[in-house]
Amino acid sequence: LASRDFHPADTVIKIKDVEIGGEQLVIMGGPCAVESPEQIDEIARLVKASGAQVLRGGAFKPRTGPYSFQGVGVEGLVMMAEAGKKHGLLTITEVMTPEYVDVCAEYADILQVGTRNMQNFDLLRKLGTIQTPVLLKRGFSSTYDEFLNAAEYILAGGNPNVMLCERGIRTFEPYTRNTLDLAAIPALQSLSHLPVISDPSHGTGRRELVEPMSKASVAAGANGLIVEMHTDPDNSMTGDGVQSLFPDQFAKLMVDLEKLAPLV
Ligand code: PEP
Ligand code: MN
Repeated sequence: LASRDFHPADTVIKIKDVEIGGEQLVIMGGPCAVESPEQIDEIARLVKASGAQVLRGGAFKPRTGPYSFQGVGVEGLVMMAEAGKKHGLLTITEVMTPEYVDVCAEYADILQVGTRNMQNFDLLRKLGTIQTPVLLKRGFSSTYDEFLNAAEYILAGGNPNVMLCERGIRTFEPYTRNTLDLAAIPALQSLSHLPVISDPSHGTGRRELVEPMSKASVAAGANGLIVEMHTDPDNSMTGDGVQSLFPDQFAKLMVDLEKLAPLV
């Protein structure tokens, strides 16, 4: 079902007035994690003012270590939904377990499956039973075939609203946190009809590389970007402050991106 052979036309996922997979470039911006109502409200205001369409933020965080901050949980979903509604943004948040799919879908417009859960087949099966759009991140050591098979689980369950996200893979290079596989963007678009989103934040792990890799992703044909931005990255509650743009950098990036592709 994910294959172009089966479905020649591009899939366009329409959520309110935003179309993902069509002519419009869709930008999802916001913090790695929802931290407080004030934090997410202020970031939502800045995301909206910059012209992006979707607010990102994790309420449930898949941390590598069990003692790291794990996210604020369901309260974070409420905070984010309020900020999104107030500022007129769609919202995207990560869901980690099948049990939390329904509550996450109640509060968010798009559900994110993280790289560590790309082959959590119970989660994928559960996501196939609803119609809420899903952003499926590529596993950090997954091939395109494995990635498309993961998408297939959701599609086969009956949810056609799947977008693929290249977020970098593990290579031998330690300078960048991951290696953003730019070729995955056109390659996945030729293999599949599903929209492809790029994540230059996790794909590089370095703030100064986010702008050039955002532009490179759009030049490679990405249908959208998911970018971390924080008002106080040095004090953010996850380690992802180092890859989060400052609000003025995010705003400048949006101005530059608008020259490359239409945002509305
Ligand atoms: C995130 O988006 O903050 C995240 C945890 O992403 P990934 O699953 O790609 O590491
Ligand atoms: Mn993050």
